Amino acid sequence: MPTCQNCQQTWTWFQSVKNMFRLKCPYCGMKQYQSANSKKKTSILSIIPIAIIFLVNVFSSLTLGAGAILLIALLVAMFGFYPFLLQLSNEEEFYP
Ligand SMILES: [Zn+2]
Repeated sequence: MPTCQNCQQTWTWFQSVKNMFRLKCPYCGMKQYQSANSKKKTSILSIIPIAIIFLVNVFSSLTLGAGAILLIALLVAMFGFYPFLLQLSNEEEFYP
């Protein structure tokens, strides 16, 4: 779970999901940024659903409806998993 680098409070899963886009600490109100290392992990995570859809499609040729349902299910799973990969930083970090 992410820890605020300003006040050292650990965010809960629910708080992380709620603050996913703004990344504002619910305890101290400081703007937080996603660390470069964490960005790397979440970018890998975002490739997984596309890879799964592609592989399933190769083996079973999905209909459009089944593909859409699968994609939504994978996106929901990704959102659920995201707080575990989220790490915070006080400043904007970029890929080295
Ligand atoms: Zn804080």
